[in-house]
Amino acid sequence: MENLKNCKSCGKLFLKVSRNICPDCFQEEEDCFLKVKNYLDEHPNATVLEVSTETEVTQKQIKKFIEEGRLITTQFTRLSIECERCGVEISQGKYCESCQEELKEGFKSSTTKKEEQKEAGKIHIRDRLDKR
Ligand SMILES: [Zn+2]
Ligand SMILES: [Zn+2]
Repeated sequence: MENLKNCKSCGKLFLKVSRNICPDCFQEEEDCFLKVKNYLDEHPNATVLEVSTETEVTQKQIKKFIEEGRLITTQFTRLSIECERCGVEISQGKYCESCQEELKEGFKSSTTKKEEQKEAGKIHIRDRLDKR
């Protein structure tokens, strides 16, 4: 009946309310977030690396805040993150728009796109893919 769950962060069993992490870890994350936020208020042009160095919050954690949309990269313009797939700069989420599109279409098109980019429009592999 009780909604017990293992904390996604530390593994401790806790009563799940709306999060995947326990109150301890949540508090820790909030502390990190505040540190990052405060730093960015004073240094709006800081990069993820700078913020991480100055606040001692891991880049991974900062990126998570960005992914969750808690840090608005349009506001902090240099706080961009990279697409996990192609490395292009993005402002939110894990993947750039084109990768998101491709992931939606499925695996078959992911290699096609790469080849397509390599050939720079010389060939039309994509034509074979009947995109619906
Ligand atoms: Zn925890
Ligand atoms: Zn991408």
